Amino acid sequence: AAKRRGGNCAVVFTEGLRQAAAERLELEQDLHAALREGGRQFELHYQPVVRLDAADSLRSFEALLRWNHPTRGRIPPDAFIPLAEETGLIELLGDWVLEAALAQLADWWAGAGPGGGPQVAVNISPLQARRRGFAAHIGQRLRAHGLPAEALWLEVTERILADEAAAAVLAGIRALGVRVAVDDFGIGYSSLSYLHRLPADVIKLDRSFLPEDGGADDGGAEAFVAAVIRLVHTVGLSLIAEGVETEAQLALLRRAGCDAVQGYLLARPMPAQPAGALLRAGPAEMPWHGVLART
Ligand code: C2E
Ligand code: MG
Ligand code: MG
Ligand code: MG
Repeated sequence: AAKRRGGNCAVVFTEGLRQAAAERLELEQDLHAALREGGRQFELHYQPVVRLDAADSLRSFEALLRWNHPTRGRIPPDAFIPLAEETGLIELLGDWVLEAALAQLADWWAGAGPGGGPQVAVNISPLQARRRGFAAHIGQRLRAHGLPAEALWLEVTERILADEAAAAVLAGIRALGVRVAVDDFGIGYSSLSYLHRLPADVIKLDRSFLPEDGGADDGGAEAFVAAVIRLVHTVGLSLIAEGVETEAQLALLRRAGCDAVQGYLLARPMPAQPAGALLRAGPAEMPWHGVLART
């Protein structure tokens, strides 16, 4: 009987694998189709990045990709970006994201006052960055949209630093005046030995470094975050904390000298229209106005 049960398990297991492979293939085909039809199923949402020394106004967002699948509904990026990377579709998808973000930026800059429009940070996969001529492509697309380089930021993960070709491209991108942020800092190939020669302007501290509630019992965690921030400042970079969810975390980050914060506590990623309304809103209309006054 045990043997028969074992046999059944194996059957169930292979059946599960077969199904997973079939689903993956289907998703890949759907992604292909979505790109072929011009990207109407895709949408960028914009999450405010709030500078703690100038929280009265909003000057920057991170662009986050959303896929509104015709039958499955909204699929989160973590569920299809890795697939797009494995299949090479990330190049087309990345081009779509860059164009959509630049078109939105051009719109915002056209309606902006003399101080200029906002900055939008676009996430870039290492596979995109290692493409020959990627830096020149970025410069050409900025010019085509009539935008200054300062309007665009690129976010790359530490993975890219393991890829020499891609890391070299970053230097070209920064030479244009486009700022580069290292995303999810601290969870990947992080090493103190290269912090001082990162080809970047900004570090985005991964949310796993924030104590769960940020409360008084986390003295050790607070000292650690403060030390990381000092170190980042010492090498001339600035620090954005991501995934800020509680007032205690925000208070901790302010005490620790953090430059800017991003997280559900302040604002969730939102469609372009409400994001644009925030750009025109007064200090008291910022969703984080009350929270900042309290912490
Ligand atoms: P990421 O670049 O680290 O983006 C931050 C993620 O954290 C976003 O998830 C955002 O919605 C989420 N987040 C923001 N505030 C909070 C918070 O307070 N708590 C929690 N728990 N989460 C928060 P999202 O939009 O699902 O994106 C996931 C990842 O997918 C991104 O992580 C990024 O690596 C990737 N991604 C998103 N859009 C693009 C894109 O256009 N191109 C590429 N290559 N990757 C993208
Ligand atoms: Mg990011
Ligand atoms: Mg991030
Ligand atoms: Mg992250």
